[in-house]
Amino acid sequence: MAKVFNWQIGREMDYPYAEAHPKKQFVAVFNTNRCIACQTCSMACKSTWTYSPGQEYMWWNNVESKPYGGYPRNWDVQLLAKLEKANPNGQKWDPKTKGKKSPFGTYEGKTIFEAAGRNEKVLGYLPKDKEWATPNLYEDTSTKYEREGKIGLAKGGVQLPEHKAWFFYLQRLCNHCTYPACLAACPRKAIYKRKEDGVVLIDQKRCRGYRKCMEACPYKKPMYNTDTRITEKCIACYPRLEGKDPLTKGKPMETRCMGACVGQIRLQGLAELDKDGQLTKNSKNPLNYLINVAKVALPLYPQFGTEPNIYYIPPRWVPRPYLVQMFGPGALEAIERYNNPTRELIAVLQLFRRSQEIIFSYGIEKGPKAFETTIRGKPFTLYNDTVIAYDEGGQEIFRTNVEEPIYVRPKDRTNAV
Ligand code: SF4
Ligand code: SF4
Repeated sequence: MAKVFNWQIGREMDYPYAEAHPKKQFVAVFNTNRCIACQTCSMACKSTWTYSPGQEYMWWNNVESKPYGGYPRNWDVQLLAKLEKANPNGQKWDPKTKGKKSPFGTYEGKTIFEAAGRNEKVLGYLPKDKEWATPNLYEDTSTKYEREGKIGLAKGGVQLPEHKAWFFYLQRLCNHCTYPACLAACPRKAIYKRKEDGVVLIDQKRCRGYRKCMEACPYKKPMYNTDTRITEKCIACYPRLEGKDPLTKGKPMETRCMGACVGQIRLQGLAELDKDGQLTKNSKNPLNYLINVAKVALPLYPQFGTEPNIYYIPPRWVPRPYLVQMFGPGALEAIERYNNPTRELIAVLQLFRRSQEIIFSYGIEKGPKAFETTIRGKPFTLYNDTVIAYDEGGQEIFRTNVEEPIYVRPKDRTNAV
């Protein structure tokens, strides 16, 4: 095993291949606070890539209700239990080591590469057929709550900072990991990570359908095609990334699931990396800003060790221990920062879903004060700044304001749009 540096866990770790990084990395940020579970993203992906025979059960993009939902069923709970069994009471973080190269401190437990048994590359499991059968089981199911009266609402369950009864929507697709477990486990070397954008692909000609990638991927995102007997996975809509879709006339475009998001929770692009593979700080790329400057977006289960590249703004109302287990120890500060946003963060959050073209950088023009108030005991001022999105060549794609315009329907046309 080679030693590679994983900045999300703040330390070196074992990985079967030597460290190498792409020029840019396919990255997305999902704001879980805004998702309405409409599944438009799931349908956009399904109707583009997985509508053929043998793909019936496949949802490369899915949205599950946590804590009970999961596709395949209990994928995360099963792996967390295996990790715990392999290294009892060891999955802890040391926050004292927080620094430039380890923004969340150091993970002292074992990753799925380090916890692998003899003759195994990765600690994993192969889901049973029935575990794929119910992709949205437990949708909208909350944790137990005490009723107020006979048919009342949850007793004390609606107060921030943490609701007593809760659930939230988790949007999931392949994380196009920096250290993919699928790639590590493939005996055919059929999986590769593209140098230009970090997209992880399965070479359909080399794959023989051994399903070692399905067993190894902690997020369970490679899927076996029962018709072709070859394994498939999310391809990050790479023809769109390459500007092959006629809509943007040769310019890089976001994936189908991102572009279709009704809740406007998703922003995807190509992040800038430093020579060690960490997202740069001094960039005007909105993804670099949200992840490594504003630090409001976090990786999903960083302790697994694959350095996933889909990041989440955690749901504000969920009990903190659950969030720390799911998004690492950065969850507490991320929520604090999202709850008390800076002027720049408010502006950058307006970039979500205003265009399908990939935003490579942004600029902000300061605007007048819109209003002042107090939020959770702290003074807060909102400015109507203008945020401008630029393409790779520095050309403006669009500009938008912090304050949304108010349209008043004329009295004589109350029944018309
Ligand atoms: S999420 Fe799974 S399938 Fe995707 S790159 Fe990571 S390990 Fe591979
Ligand atoms: S389209 Fe957006 S809002 Fe709807 S389920 Fe998907 S991520 Fe959530």
